[in-house]
Amino acid sequence: MSFDGLPPLRDVIDRHELRAKKALGQNFLLDLNLTGKIARAAGDLTHATVIEVGPGPGGLTRALLAHGAKRVIAIEKDERCLAALDEISRHYPGRLQVVPGDALKTDFAQLASTGEPVRIAANLPYNVGTELLVRWLTVRQWPPFYQSMTLMFQREVAQRIVAEPGSEAYGRLGVLAGWRTQARIAFDVPPQAFTPPPKVTSSVVHVVPREEPLPADVGKLGKLTEAAFGQRRKMLRQSLKGLGGERLLESVGIDPTRRAETLSVEEFVRLANAT
Ligand code: SAM
Repeated sequence: MSFDGLPPLRDVIDRHELRAKKALGQNFLLDLNLTGKIARAAGDLTHATVIEVGPGPGGLTRALLAHGAKRVIAIEKDERCLAALDEISRHYPGRLQVVPGDALKTDFAQLASTGEPVRIAANLPYNVGTELLVRWLTVRQWPPFYQSMTLMFQREVAQRIVAEPGSEAYGRLGVLAGWRTQARIAFDVPPQAFTPPPKVTSSVVHVVPREEPLPADVGKLGKLTEAAFGQRRKMLRQSLKGLGGERLLESVGIDPTRRAETLSVEEFVRLANAT
């Protein structure tokens, strides 16, 4: 038995024959200290509904519940995991709702309408992690449906999320995250912490929405950053040609010979508002 009275994760994986599938981005966390550390990084869960994407055999799910999450809603695409997750549901009656299906087709705002504060916590499948984060950062309604996001990424992606202007890692993700949230890397996780180990180091990122981000249209800002960083080595007068180029840049007092990575979030917002 483990700390929570449920069988050890290795037994669960063997019994349900949950051999990791690469196509589903499956790198499982079996170390209870680590899953506990992620649950703690997610903040006070006692009054919260936690939305977890990709619970797999349930390592992080169990940590979230053991750390007092009032309720966990977990979306899992791999049907092979459902029986294992059902055992956890029965162990924590009324606290774990498993939603079988694809997170990319899930209406999260709808799922989150429990009337309780919502926190997102996940060891994300790498193949869909960035896409989900961008969706959560660009929801129309702000403040958003969540109070925080505590998410595992490849370290290189984590660095792009928290990147400052002028750095190599600064791009579309950094602008969107910097505009609407405060994001920080909570800690790194070495490859050998996972089964099977991925090729690279991972990082847990903690993201908290700003209550009042600078006013901007999310669609316009998205288009602008896509154009600007799509050709990041070029001067902005060239990369933003389709959006007004030199004239647009001069209208808001930005030197047209600058490159995208030198612009602050505030300058991107100013530009987006002028398009
Ligand atoms: N949370 C578990 C852990 O920490 O050990 C598993 C993490 S594993 C990196 C990613 C999980 O996401 C897998 O269980 C995989 O089946 C699931 N998954 C992959 N793509 C998904 C999708 N589009 N929607 C929902 N779950 C998905």
